[in-house]
Amino acid sequence: MEKNKKTKKPSNKKDSNQSIRGMRDILPKEQPLWEKAYSTYKEVANYYNFQPITTPIVEQLSLYERSNPEADLVSKEMYYVKTRSGKDTLALRPEGTPGVVRAYLEHGMKSWPHPVKLSYYGPFFRHDKPQLGRYRQLHQAGFEVFSSKIDPLYDAQVILAGFRFIEMMKIKNCSIHINTIGTPRCRTTYIQKLKAFFKEKQKLLTVEQKKRLEKNPLRLLDSKDKNIQEMKEEAPTILDHLDSDSKKHFMSVLEYLEDLGLPYTLDHTLVRGLDYYTHTVFEFILDPENEAEDELNFSLGGGGRYDYLVEQFGGKPTPATGVAIGIDRVLDVIKKKEIQVLPKAKEKVFLIHIGDLAKRKSLALIEQLRDAKIPVQEALGKASLAAQLKIADKAGSKTALIFGQKEAYEETVIIRDMKTGAQETVPLAKLASALKKRL
Ligand code: AMP
Repeated sequence: MEKNKKTKKPSNKKDSNQSIRGMRDILPKEQPLWEKAYSTYKEVANYYNFQPITTPIVEQLSLYERSNPEADLVSKEMYYVKTRSGKDTLALRPEGTPGVVRAYLEHGMKSWPHPVKLSYYGPFFRHDKPQLGRYRQLHQAGFEVFSSKIDPLYDAQVILAGFRFIEMMKIKNCSIHINTIGTPRCRTTYIQKLKAFFKEKQKLLTVEQKKRLEKNPLRLLDSKDKNIQEMKEEAPTILDHLDSDSKKHFMSVLEYLEDLGLPYTLDHTLVRGLDYYTHTVFEFILDPENEAEDELNFSLGGGGRYDYLVEQFGGKPTPATGVAIGIDRVLDVIKKKEIQVLPKAKEKVFLIHIGDLAKRKSLALIEQLRDAKIPVQEALGKASLAAQLKIADKAGSKTALIFGQKEAYEETVIIRDMKTGAQETVPLAKLASALKKRL
């Protein structure tokens, strides 16, 4: 290499003024919906006694490779993080469960009274193909239960928590698609039969599907491809290969759902994309109400039981089950279907000031109203009455406070009804009570 030749920095001219494909800004206008999602998650977590946990966004890549060796999520969709030393390989978290399991072990939660019920909320990253409901930075709310014995009650409780969240966000016609994939032992015989079944039909498979057949034939079952859809009608079903404990567990989960009156559909082809599941797997699927909603025919959340993951991470065998809700998708559905989930915004009075003295006294006036919990909007940066009236009008304010030189001097303020133009002058000391009568 020539001595003085500088190493060329990669050019980022093309992208630096634009957010990255599949990642979005959440603008002020959209914030109330996101806040509603978060407060609903908190309400559900509190009600069902899940304790919140926040884990880092960046973890060791091996955490995800260990938990999901065959999943697309790890093989194709992972974001890697380059470290300065280059020694470690880190990853942006694609899902919540492995981080929570790591934290469970790292903080000795096995000695906490069980069940340990944890909830999380935050961003996740998947190099997925961006489209409606599919983003590269996505947000999930999750609920996980670690228990001392395998208990179907907890499968039902995480399903319930997820379902209630969707319901509280006012989304109707969503149903629980549920299946069991049994234990690894009964699955082995089933996978052999499934492999043999698809091998016989090899000619009808694409190259990608053939690869999947070799690596993880179960995943062929949840393929949306038309040829597979037709074939899987005749495919062997896991239900015929369950041992008696697995059958009993599944029946018991279904009984809980029935007792709770939750709408469920048995779907023996549901396997889910993650490798660590055993027994129960489920997804919340929205049933489109008409053709225009066909594009919303996606899963709003899902989960399952993962009794071997803690052990796989070096802990002692610990039964566990969990659910994750896709917040972006829930909000996409709310926006597309124009569902009214937000309460009507509290009316704000608009403070209009005229002159320097009024401007000087305005902040103290706002504090007086803050003490009385009366929301105020203002445009203190504008000097002219016309400009401020225009902003108040645009904001849809029904009540304006006019605070001019004379009023500031006399310690009064004018309350103006923006619709009728009727005005009333009140002493500043009585402003809060006068406003409370009107709002
Ligand atoms: P998973 O972690 O794959 O079980 O997904 C749980 C939920 O997260 C799904 O049911 C979706 O609602 C949501 N989800 C998964 N991938 C994406 C994505 N790329 N963009 C937005 N939401 C997603």
